[in-house]
Amino acid sequence: MSNRKMITAALPYANGPVHIGHLAGVYIPADVYARFQRRLGKDVAFICGSDEHGIPITIRAKKEGVTPQDIVDKYHEIIKKSFADLGISFDEYSRTTSKKHYETSQDFFKTLYEKGKFTEEVSEQYFDEQANEFLADRYIVGTCPNCGNENAYGDQCEKCGSTLSPSELINPKSMLSGNVPVLKATKNWYLPLNEYESFLNEWIIEGHKDDWKPNVYGQVKSWLNDGLKPRAMTRDLNWGVPVPLPGAEGKVLYVWFDAPIGYISFTKEWAEKNGKDWKDYWQSEGSDLVHFIGKDNIVFHCIIFPSMMKAHGDYIMPKNVPAFEFLNLENDKISTSRNWAVWAHEYVEDFPGQQDVLRYALLSSAPETKDNNFTWKDFQTKNNSELVGIFGNFINRVAVLINKNFDGVIPEGDINAPELEEIGFKATEIKNYLENYEFRNALTSFMNLARFGNKYLADEEPWKTIKTDLEKTKNILFIGAQIAVALGNLAEPFLPFTAQKIYDIFNVKQMNWNDIENSKVLIETGHKINVAPLLFSQIEDDVIEAQIQKLEQTKQNNKKTNPNATPMKEQINFDDFTKIDLRTATIIEAEKVEKADKLLKLTVDTGVDVRTVVSGIAESFTPEEVIGKQVMILLNLAPRKIRGIESQGMLLLTTKSDGKLSFVTPDDQVENGVEIG
Ligand SMILES: [Zn+2]
Repeated sequence: MSNRKMITAALPYANGPVHIGHLAGVYIPADVYARFQRRLGKDVAFICGSDEHGIPITIRAKKEGVTPQDIVDKYHEIIKKSFADLGISFDEYSRTTSKKHYETSQDFFKTLYEKGKFTEEVSEQYFDEQANEFLADRYIVGTCPNCGNENAYGDQCEKCGSTLSPSELINPKSMLSGNVPVLKATKNWYLPLNEYESFLNEWIIEGHKDDWKPNVYGQVKSWLNDGLKPRAMTRDLNWGVPVPLPGAEGKVLYVWFDAPIGYISFTKEWAEKNGKDWKDYWQSEGSDLVHFIGKDNIVFHCIIFPSMMKAHGDYIMPKNVPAFEFLNLENDKISTSRNWAVWAHEYVEDFPGQQDVLRYALLSSAPETKDNNFTWKDFQTKNNSELVGIFGNFINRVAVLINKNFDGVIPEGDINAPELEEIGFKATEIKNYLENYEFRNALTSFMNLARFGNKYLADEEPWKTIKTDLEKTKNILFIGAQIAVALGNLAEPFLPFTAQKIYDIFNVKQMNWNDIENSKVLIETGHKINVAPLLFSQIEDDVIEAQIQKLEQTKQNNKKTNPNATPMKEQINFDDFTKIDLRTATIIEAEKVEKADKLLKLTVDTGVDVRTVVSGIAESFTPEEVIGKQVMILLNLAPRKIRGIESQGMLLLTTKSDGKLSFVTPDDQVENGVEIG
């Protein structure tokens, strides 16, 4: 087995913050794996960074009236902080707009170019003559031929979901200038993926049938069965890494060419700072390259990037690509555009000091082999029943009883007690699961050791035996202390903040994983421990209810057909409604109210009577305009004095998009005094 582990986690796209789906499907499992490998004594490089190129970023910038750099600067900071807050232990978290990345990806491209690995192809692309720019499909809008949506994009209609090409749009227009785009010939560089089919077949289909996850293996197999085609590695765009060739002005590397090279660039940045040689991790057979990704990235990490590295010639192939399925939220697909998500940075704010609770909840429902679901109720149960009720309870009892009865000194006990066998057994079991990327099983195995310890105390009842049998009590707490320290050590990859608290309570240093497997005594008799704060606290119903309400609010907002519509007012019953007396009426006289710019004094024939109404419509209508208008009036509104004039009733008005008021009137002329309802 290799001593070096080159571990990457999918580059988050710097177009929005990170949510629990990303965390459960990539970053937390990758972090557990990296931490665990470090504990085995492996030479680990755990590398990630923000992916800052690509069309969605330029589109977002355009919409918000800022530069693409502004967008990526903002989200890079938010994402980076969320990861740090949640204990994701990257050795390097960089970004694809870094200088080193530009150099590295341009060098990579040039090497392939000089080796003759690209084909050059001329194709016709849409071009905006006024903006003097080629247009990505996303930059062309028009009418969807399928549903008539007038704001369909050149690649997709978001209303009916159909996939489109720009030529299918009716009345296509450039988003840059609003003009009709023209077709223009342009040259780009393609990687002929079809030439790598046999290599991919041999390496993955024949070589990794048994050790890669079935979902990953199956998807690669299906891509290869369908046959691969040459794929453009450059684009006509002005946001990205410029193509480093003469005559390639206005062209950048395709974001999926440059993004995975980011793993290499960031490793170089880390290596330079730490006196390492990046090639030991990327170009040496003594290194295991492992990519943690979501299932939507399989093609890029198992087909395109390996083909690029194969074409280059100097790189090792990934040892494994443990791709995860998707996590749903409250039985609905997580969606950034619908804001249906639990955002990492919001969780950190709402649950201060409780990072490990989220790590635990997400790992225990990690979508390893199929899509899985996160619910707030489940989150609460996992905290209250498992972390508080079992794990936290056990650690706390051991520490408190030792402090209370033995002045905080570990008592004597039987170093050959059969209960101590469980420690090494569980350490090995967790190791085997983690080596096999089975994170949920590993977590369950860990929790079973906490259950074992908790049950041991419940059965032996040291709080009772202390009154009758001191020697027996010493032994129970000696054994309890060994299990507690083991739990701290085994918790570290999963729950690093809690592990540190346990080290502090028991005044111990973190151990190598192999040492836990091979020893029964982890804390010696006579060792002094510290007082024990609670590791976890109950999460109450109102806290969970507030989170559910937050999602409920999102659901209501998503139903709006007009984003500017205010939320519905509190419900009323039918009796409330029948109290309201609405009638048709006609304005028969109108005059301005002195020293009041907004008011008109109206005389209204309501059919029931002729009365005076003061109305705030003077900025929308002249008195002449309203005379003779049929309107609707709230007849039984209690009279009130406005500027000394008694106003009897209220006319129904609405506001137009230009801010001017308009009367609510019947479609056809009707008699005055007719009830409305
Ligand atoms: Zn459509």
